Amino acid sequence: MTELLSLPAFSDNYIWMMHNGRDALVVDPGDADVVRQALLQRNLSLKAILVTHHHPDHTGGVQALRDLLQGPVYAPVREDTPLPREPVSGGQHLAVLGLPVQVIDVPGHTAGHIAYLVEPPEQAPILFCGDTLFSGGCGRLFEGTPAQMHASLSALAELPGHTRVCCAHEYTLSNLRFARTVEPGNADLASYQDRCIELRAQGAPTLPSSIDTERMINPFLRCHVPEVRDSALEQGAAGDDPVAVLAALREWKNRS
Ligand code: ZN
Ligand code: FE
Repeated sequence: MTELLSLPAFSDNYIWMMHNGRDALVVDPGDADVVRQALLQRNLSLKAILVTHHHPDHTGGVQALRDLLQGPVYAPVREDTPLPREPVSGGQHLAVLGLPVQVIDVPGHTAGHIAYLVEPPEQAPILFCGDTLFSGGCGRLFEGTPAQMHASLSALAELPGHTRVCCAHEYTLSNLRFARTVEPGNADLASYQDRCIELRAQGAPTLPSSIDTERMINPFLRCHVPEVRDSALEQGAAGDDPVAVLAALREWKNRS
């Protein structure tokens, strides 16, 4: 059995950890101390680090963890991340902690951003998607185009519905406020927002989400839905195709 943990870091990051009671992996360790403490508390060995993209809040702790790391640092081949590393790209299959892991290319937030899909036997798949897909939103387009982000999000939306979605930031409430403006008629969205407000009030993470949930509530996965499209057109979308709708939503969110 593997356990999945979200370790809060900085103001709104999560460093995700998976362990089997003995060995652990971490994803995007921006802060080494957070990881060190979690390993120590549970008496775990760190066997692998998975990096999704090059931003410092995802890579800042990698070098400081080298002395206790007993295994590889997997990182996107197209990005500059701390060396040494095992460069990986979309379509590759890895085995980490004895579990099958698929690498998926998800450019958009950064040019070489990747995601990792872990498929533990007899458990729901686990997606580590970095800053590509957030609950109710998506990452900013720092290096990629709306077309790339649309393709990346569409690929993630096709994963099994019960896939656990492990995003790297707790941005859910702000994303959902925006989503409600885009799609005021979406009743699933309204009830999901209530649930997430309650979780945050209790100090609990809103994550992991699921692919099923995101398909129902995330406007960036719903660019083909008439209400989302019409809201985007009102905000000056250049067309009614999904890529133009996504581009308009992303700019609107940046302004709001
Ligand atoms: Zn980032
Ligand atoms: Fe980030």
